[in-house]
Amino acid sequence: MRVRAARKSKVQVQPGMFTPPIVLNQVKGFLADAEATALYEAAASVSELGPVLEIGSYCGKSTICLGLACQQQNSLLFAVDHHRGSEEHQPGELYHDPELYDAGEKSIDSFREFRRNIRRAGLEESVTPIVAGSAQAARYWRTPLAMVFIDGGHSLEAALTDYRCWAGHLLRGGILAIHDIFPDPGMGGQAPYTIYRMALESGLFELIEQVETLALLRRL
Ligand code: SAH
Ligand code: MG
Repeated sequence: MRVRAARKSKVQVQPGMFTPPIVLNQVKGFLADAEATALYEAAASVSELGPVLEIGSYCGKSTICLGLACQQQNSLLFAVDHHRGSEEHQPGELYHDPELYDAGEKSIDSFREFRRNIRRAGLEESVTPIVAGSAQAARYWRTPLAMVFIDGGHSLEAALTDYRCWAGHLLRGGILAIHDIFPDPGMGGQAPYTIYRMALESGLFELIEQVETLALLRRL
């Protein structure tokens, strides 16, 4: 299939355009305020080109930021997460949240909380949840994407899978966003930083900016 070259987006994103819905502060998650704003602005700047996809929705914090931008541009966000949690969310691990543990199933289930938050934010018609692992969701994927946000598992294998499965679907001019970038190994895990380096070294991406631990790259 031929993918048409993306036009440069005409949408001018003004600083201060992002008015986070009240619900955002009540959503459990792992996203700083400046990162939330940067995600929204990035999606708003390209989502008229096509749909946006995120890997790693958890309870919907990043989903609400991206979904709001999609709603305003009449675009769509695909939110990929198996909702079984990453390594660090499992019982006994540092970021385990007992409220998200389904004792009957003996596993994490963040989907119920995710759905509740997406409904409260009024985004049910702008967000399409895909409850599956990243590689499974990618198997028959053919749709070119305006933006991909990678915030799933942090093992090297998971991060490499996300990059290999999804970066190739970006339209030219689209945005690859990667969360949890720590150039200093003393500050955090290196898997997201590794795929960030791979993207830059491929020559297919240029750095737009980094906001706290969020890197935004442009597909050339
Ligand atoms: N973006 C979220 C935080 C994501 S936490 C926020 O803004 O708060 C990481 C999420 O990635 C978890 O919900 C976990 O279930 C999911 N995840 C981990 N590995 C995955 C995989 N291989 N495929 C899909 N989702 C995955
Ligand atoms: Mg993260």
